[in-house]
Amino acid sequence: MRLFEAIVDANHRAVAGDREAGLHPADFADELPVIALTCVDPRLNAFFPNALALPAEQFIWLRNAGNIITQPLSSTMRSLALACAVKGGREIAIIGHTDCQICKTTAMQLLEKLKALGVDRHQLPENLNEFFGMFGSERQNVIKACDIVRNSPLIGPKIPVHGFMVDIETGRLEWIVNGYETWQTLPKPVEMSKGAGPMTEELGSFAKFNIGEMKFPETKIGETAKKIGTPELKLASPPPPAPLLPAAPAIPPKIPLPQPIRPRTFPTRGRR
Ligand SMILES: [Zn+2]
Repeated sequence: MRLFEAIVDANHRAVAGDREAGLHPADFADELPVIALTCVDPRLNAFFPNALALPAEQFIWLRNAGNIITQPLSSTMRSLALACAVKGGREIAIIGHTDCQICKTTAMQLLEKLKALGVDRHQLPENLNEFFGMFGSERQNVIKACDIVRNSPLIGPKIPVHGFMVDIETGRLEWIVNGYETWQTLPKPVEMSKGAGPMTEELGSFAKFNIGEMKFPETKIGETAKKIGTPELKLASPPPPAPLLPAAPAIPPKIPLPQPIRPRTFPTRGRR
């Protein structure tokens, strides 16, 4: 049994009321630690890492609003890459959650909320949905993020990239992208520079994302709205298209439980 197969098994058993459900981290020493990207929603604070039955020291936690990954070279992608390369993360899990407020916020509502904070429309790029990575489906957002991570040149083919949804009320995990299945079956990512050549030459279309990303902060306040719509910035390629997917099935009914997820972590080796 692979690490996340054991995690999902323990999670589901625990949600179903099995107080002995859990896993032995020592059995998965080659697959730990895990890197997880979740939303900033404070309701998730109590869930991790215990919803994964992992000890805290084997859980590298990255968070951003909406667990969004916008581009293969974005700052979140760079953190994921460093978490793998420097902190030794062996597997990545993008974990969305039900009832995500980022998902429920429209561009118009976002504009109003930002305006209330003193951020005027002209200070923002034309396409708010694209800029902030807003999304209308938590599941599709996770699938898209997994796709970008899997194809990012910053993440080597040795790292499985999984996608999950977690029920905000019960902590139950739903596995929606199995990183073991897509692992090593995809084309090798674009290689980084072998010499001192600029990233634009080595990374091809990926570098164009970077150009667009880097140029925006350099614009002066007041020029932003105008500049963001210029042909120059429109040269940037759109993000890789999400794979064609069947319509997301409805979220299954919640399992009524007296207690949220509490799978145990067993410090000693030996499967239960
Ligand atoms: Zn959220």
